[in-house]
Amino acid sequence: MLSVFFSDQVVAEFSIDSPSPRKPGLVVRDWIAHGLPVKIVTPDPVTEEDFALAHDRTHVRDILFLKKDNGFFTRDQVVADSLFHTTGAMVAAAIHAVQNRTFACAPVSGFHHAMYRSVGVYCTFNGLIVAAQTLKKRGLATRVGILDYDMHFGDGTEDIIETLRLDHVVHYTAGKDFRKPEQAEGFLRSIPEHLERMRGCNIILYQAGADPHIKDPLGGWLTTAQLRQRDRIVFTTARAMELPVAWDLAGGYQEESDGSIPALLEIHRNTALESIAALSS
Ligand SMILES: [Zn+2]
Repeated sequence: MLSVFFSDQVVAEFSIDSPSPRKPGLVVRDWIAHGLPVKIVTPDPVTEEDFALAHDRTHVRDILFLKKDNGFFTRDQVVADSLFHTTGAMVAAAIHAVQNRTFACAPVSGFHHAMYRSVGVYCTFNGLIVAAQTLKKRGLATRVGILDYDMHFGDGTEDIIETLRLDHVVHYTAGKDFRKPEQAEGFLRSIPEHLERMRGCNIILYQAGADPHIKDPLGGWLTTAQLRQRDRIVFTTARAMELPVAWDLAGGYQEESDGSIPALLEIHRNTALESIAALSS
């Protein structure tokens, strides 16, 4: 059984050129419709204080009080309200995973381009760093790995680690090294090595991005089968290393003209299936 930290409040319904804010609800409904063994748990929202564990306090307030644009470059109250819940889901999944030495999912996205003092594309606050900081503050982890297999370089994560000199976070972002289809096999072979760098961490925060897909408008270099293989290697290796994993959806932008997202749903369903399979092995 995979615990999935979700409530309707993590979904922001507003008009934007990205499926990301709608994804959590669609993904969770898809898993239930396909009979996946998931347990839906309502996450507690984080607070302004929690965001300040990863960001400049004035920046946090300016975003929350709509004085500054969010990661979608709007000042929508709906987005501001959802931020507490999307990062809340990541934090709750991380706490659950580390406390129960298991895998858990936060079906959310929009973290890794968020910098210490500024937003990035589709990313307002960095829920990965908020989660890593919260685990440390609560004495649940002394070392946290961030394994970022989104298409894009996790520049926001890197910026905050450098700004706050976070020596308890081990960060690897594949967007720095891999971006072409001919690198796919080499990438898949190197996954155990990326995880090996995180040996001794109490938990891995895994960005299981769908945007490396070869047909993604902002991608892409991996096929659906290769993405699934990626996830299988991540979860079986983490299991063998006895590393808990909290994973999120990260990027993915394939959308049909009617707004449906069957390709993304398949990729994320595969990630869920691989995490469940590795848990029960
Ligand atoms: Zn991306």
